[in-house]
Amino acid sequence: MSFTIHGIGVSGGIAIGHAHLVSRAKLEAAHYVVPAPQVPDESARFDAAIRAVRSELEQLRANVPATAPAEFTAFINLHLMILDDSTLSVAPRKIIESEQCNAEWALKVQMDALLAQFDEIEDGYLRERKADVIQVVERIMKTLSGQPGYLPPAPSDAEHSLILVAHDLSPADVVQFKQHHFASFITDLGGATSHTAVVARSLNIPSIVALHNGRQLIRENELIIVDGTQGVVIVDPDRQVLAEYQLRQHQFEIERQKLKRLRNTRAVTLDGVEVELHANIELPGDVVEARENGAMGIGLFRTEFLFLNRDGLPDEKEQFAAYRKVAEDMGGLPVTIRTYDLGADKQTDGAQGMTVNPALGLRAIRLCLVEPQRFLIQLRAMLRASHYGKINILIPMLMNAAEVDQALQLIRQAKSSLDEEGVPYDRDITVGGMIEVPAAALALGIFTRKLDFLSIGTNDLIQYTLAIDRTDDTVAHLYDPLHPAVLSLLAHIFKAANKAKIPVALCGEMAGDVALTRLLLALGLRQYSMHSAHLLDVKQYILKSSLRKIKPLVQKMLRAHDPEKLRALLGRINA
Ligand code: PEP
Ligand code: MG
Repeated sequence: MSFTIHGIGVSGGIAIGHAHLVSRAKLEAAHYVVPAPQVPDESARFDAAIRAVRSELEQLRANVPATAPAEFTAFINLHLMILDDSTLSVAPRKIIESEQCNAEWALKVQMDALLAQFDEIEDGYLRERKADVIQVVERIMKTLSGQPGYLPPAPSDAEHSLILVAHDLSPADVVQFKQHHFASFITDLGGATSHTAVVARSLNIPSIVALHNGRQLIRENELIIVDGTQGVVIVDPDRQVLAEYQLRQHQFEIERQKLKRLRNTRAVTLDGVEVELHANIELPGDVVEARENGAMGIGLFRTEFLFLNRDGLPDEKEQFAAYRKVAEDMGGLPVTIRTYDLGADKQTDGAQGMTVNPALGLRAIRLCLVEPQRFLIQLRAMLRASHYGKINILIPMLMNAAEVDQALQLIRQAKSSLDEEGVPYDRDITVGGMIEVPAAALALGIFTRKLDFLSIGTNDLIQYTLAIDRTDDTVAHLYDPLHPAVLSLLAHIFKAANKAKIPVALCGEMAGDVALTRLLLALGLRQYSMHSAHLLDVKQYILKSSLRKIKPLVQKMLRAHDPEKLRALLGRINA
């Protein structure tokens, strides 16, 4: 039976392929001994997870969408039954108590026993229910750990037609997809500017997040269409719909090919204003695509991705090799390397985020400053690489003057250690700061006085201004780059930076959204940095824009407060 599911499209285009339901990577739970006095707490933690999963499933059942197939409710009921079976909901508690072990391990022991019984079953239908047991255990494990994590299947020839369907994926999971060629991926959780979505965009494959119950509704190997532009998934399409989407997919490809002709064209408006279009990258290999799409530089190298999916941290030698490669591959064009922005939703293996609000905790520069030895390794690697190209250092999430002073002091320290060793580096290397906290935007003078350039991170600036967790799909609809507070902060940053004569780039997702290209141009942006896939689209828009015509309309937007009016004005700007 054909049906559709709606989510948030995070990367455009159409994919047609077969569903592959992604399983959790770490169903192999760690095994550790729980000290006797803490055993009751461990049992209580397990019981709480069971209760939370039960209420999650009950809530899902109460909100079954009208478009869902009839068997969906039966499906949730089955999961509730599995959950309530004493094998999963009671026996693990007994194991915790008798063996003094952690809840995850007890659950894993029980799951293995249950799955072994399923293997013995002759009946094909019943044997297939093994997948349901795994899904239920996944839910419990996720609740226990609070850290979702999936492994993609090994690369294969067939993956071009695979659409990965997951409940949730972390940015670390998605960055691994760069070694694969999946047709698309879709998830139930996530917001439009979550790091998962951000990396999805860089894969340049259609993808959708926030489908809510896609993984429950879609079956393994089912034929599905993913329309990443509209944020729609069509499951088991009929022949007519399939033909229609095959045609649209073909047209999309033709448009993409046509755009390639703009690769070497300068990005200049009709009235002669030139802008620079740079690329955001996560890994050194991304430079190939940046160059193919005519990037005039790397505006943001998110170095923290070098730290994910591995045991231990990359040493200076490894980091130096990565930064040098990017600098050399860009052939002298500017490369802005951001110091690692770890924490929040990007945790290294082993660093479990135990804080209640990780996005407000030890993240980015805050983390670097509490671990100066680790930070110095990165700074030395960046400085050494600066000898081989044009590197700028970018510091994320700055908030006050002390952070700037300490970061600059550590850069000086890294320089003198290289001087002592006689290692060359670019003595004119520039240091910039990301403006992504409202406090930094409002007190811009702190940063314009001490730094060489600024780069606005709108993903976080919007998250922190509107108080919406960018990873939380339940508040994803509140993400609004046109909110008057966001517009006024942006206008203020451009005005103050201009007055201080300090260059300001913008590297959040807003930079790659063609609907906002003209608005940003009129606010004063002259250096956009975005995922390579958007570069030519944005360039085409710039080429068709006249700053003189749009400026008065943008001034009106800055005075408007009514969302309808703001959208109408944006419509006129883009007409
Ligand atoms: C941003 O916050 O806009 C940004 C570019 O940084 P990140 O998305 O990596 O947090
Ligand atoms: Mg950010």
